[in-house]
Amino acid sequence: MILMKDIVREGHPALRKQAHALSFPLTDQERQLGNDLLEYVKNSQDPDISEKHHLRAGIGLAAPQVNESVQMFALHIPDEKAATISFVAINPKIISHSVEKTYFTSGEGCLSVDREVEGFVPRYARITIKAFDLDGNEFKKRFKGLAAIAFQHELDHLNGIMFYDHINQENPYEEIPNATPFERD
Ligand SMILES: [Zn+2]
Repeated sequence: MILMKDIVREGHPALRKQAHALSFPLTDQERQLGNDLLEYVKNSQDPDISEKHHLRAGIGLAAPQVNESVQMFALHIPDEKAATISFVAINPKIISHSVEKTYFTSGEGCLSVDREVEGFVPRYARITIKAFDLDGNEFKKRFKGLAAIAFQHELDHLNGIMFYDHINQENPYEEIPNATPFERD
């Protein structure tokens, strides 16, 4: 089980590496890593489990954040209206995206960043992605809003990019052209 002590923080070289693509079939360890990443995000959203193990809540966790430089991340986004988005993505790619951008009005956070970072992080408003599941089956999905932002945040981790790299350093709250702001509750 992944705990906060297993998650590397900013400054750790794993967060700045280009992660390696995986090949199928996965090894038992790689499969376990995928299950562990997804388990963490699920557990972190469970009031009892997160309190017991002092887990910081998150909706996504990427392999480089636990010092494994491979192209894999997990997302778990409960949605009352739509179906819960919950999957492990391996060798994920954005295959197309909107011209329109979006950003969280409250900025982004990250389990590897133990501080508040102010500023807007521009993201594509809508994306079409492809990735492989743990069994090597390719899947394609379309995301918008929270899921689109979260997917782009996690994908960045596989390329050594942190969310604050996208923030305008001179003016963190500068309006982002062609963007519809996204309010998080
Ligand atoms: Zn992150």
